[in-house]
Amino acid sequence: MSGRLASRLRALVGDDGVIDHPDALGVYDCDGYTIERGTPDLVVLPRVPEQVPPVLRLLWDEGIAFVPRGAGTGLSGGTLPVAAPVMICTSRLNRIESIDRQNRRVVAQAGVVNQWVSNAVRADGLLYAPDPSSQPACTIGGNVAENSGGPHTLKYGVTTNHVLGLELVLPDGEVVALGGTVEERAGYDLVGLVVGAEGTFGIVTRATLRLTRTPEAYRTLLAVFDSVDAASEAVSGIIATGIVPAALEMMDRLILGAVEAAYRIGLPTDAGAVLLVELDGPAIGLDGQMARVEAVCRTLGARELRLARDDAERAALWKARKRAFGAVGRLAPSYCTQDGVVPRTKVPDIVRAIARAAERHRLRIGNVFHAGDGNIHPIILFDERDPGETARVLAAGREILEACVALGGSVTGEHGIGVEKIAQMPLLFAPDDLLAMTTLRAVFDPAQRANPHKIFPDAKVCVETRAPRRQAAL
Ligand SMILES: Cc1cc2nc3c(=O)[nH]c(=O)nc-3n(C[C@H](O)[C@H](O)[C@H](O)COP(=O)(O)OP(=O)(O)OC[C@H]3O[C@@H](n4cnc5c(N)ncnc54)[C@H](O)[C@@H]3O)c2cc1C
Repeated sequence: MSGRLASRLRALVGDDGVIDHPDALGVYDCDGYTIERGTPDLVVLPRVPEQVPPVLRLLWDEGIAFVPRGAGTGLSGGTLPVAAPVMICTSRLNRIESIDRQNRRVVAQAGVVNQWVSNAVRADGLLYAPDPSSQPACTIGGNVAENSGGPHTLKYGVTTNHVLGLELVLPDGEVVALGGTVEERAGYDLVGLVVGAEGTFGIVTRATLRLTRTPEAYRTLLAVFDSVDAASEAVSGIIATGIVPAALEMMDRLILGAVEAAYRIGLPTDAGAVLLVELDGPAIGLDGQMARVEAVCRTLGARELRLARDDAERAALWKARKRAFGAVGRLAPSYCTQDGVVPRTKVPDIVRAIARAAERHRLRIGNVFHAGDGNIHPIILFDERDPGETARVLAAGREILEACVALGGSVTGEHGIGVEKIAQMPLLFAPDDLLAMTTLRAVFDPAQRANPHKIFPDAKVCVETRAPRRQAAL
């Protein structure tokens, strides 16, 4: 990439807004999906949303493709530069621009960290409901691109249910405002289209987000089971009562051991699995509902039930769950988080399929996932310095996703397709379906300049680009 382009970009975003030194670029060579890596030639860090249109216009005029990046916590390789030499990183677009408490909405720039939104409105008894476990780091722009979920999306819905409006900069630099400030809108749901588009329509610079009233009360239960199977059956049993928990999460023994070693909060490390069940809402009635949940758990084999007695105990349980991924680093040099979804009644079946894949490929796989909505996250442990083991990880991941589809589910619950799951898209979609989606994409990005070669099978890239890089990483 020419020094001339870097100079022209610096003229737009300032000297410190362009990174082109090879040592500094290494930071951007992957996101949370570390199996494939590649550095961009340049990283551009706009300081205000208004700097994004001229940057994209310049790239458009030069015929250069770009890849958007927020915090880089994505787990499907969405930020990997594939035939996109320039990365646009939103980390400095980090202002909450306005808070409208009465109408319960905020306008946040794309690089605002998810957790900051709730922090900003907590004193007003409000929160931003989508709560990915990565919420202390991930950005609103990344959440929008991936349509992220989180433990509490079982009751509150995923990102798309909480975005009212978006500002999107198209690849030619044109700025479009989608949606608005109210729930209902006329015409096509273009906000819904951009949410989950994984950065393939352009760069989201601002989002108008819906705020939710903080529940009056919580009841949080740790239910301890001797086996993953029993815990999985309890998930179906709880849902069958008609009670909708705010969250219904599972952690198995492998994960419990790692989390307990890291945080020492007294988790039962000899258990087969635990369920973390949270109910919220008006205080009146919550105890009765929790009593029914406890009864189901007992009937289906829970050997111990621990109800959090106060906010501190609740916080400790959530710390264990939300930091589980971080604790996994204790178990192996590398891990790959898979992400699929099945109808919630099929949770026991998919958990058995994961165990079979682990055995067949001689791998250790831990489970920590949003069990209530059937969103599984098998964490496959390995050592990326061992090529044979890495190949087995990829094979096991493929098998698990195939099992999700065979059980009536999908190849992603919330982490997106990125580069990781492109090969699995034909399991879900016929060629005509895929063509319809790429035709739709072309309305926003006719020249395929925004995050090219993501989501959709692209024979040329799969054969010529992806395979060698993946092997290089082995
Ligand atoms: C420990 C851990 C826990 C996690 N837990 C959850 C969870 O509970 N639920 C969940 O859903 N995910 C989870 N994730 C995955 C990840 O955090 C989410 O996908 C998150 O939304 C990514 O945000 P980011 O800012 O890091 O985006 P990045 O990783 O930087 O980018 C993700 C994708 O979004 C695109 N993108 C980023 N910003 C923009 C923008 N402004 N405009 C257009 N496109 C953009 C990128 O091109 C890329 O395709 C977890 C990840 C980790 C590491």
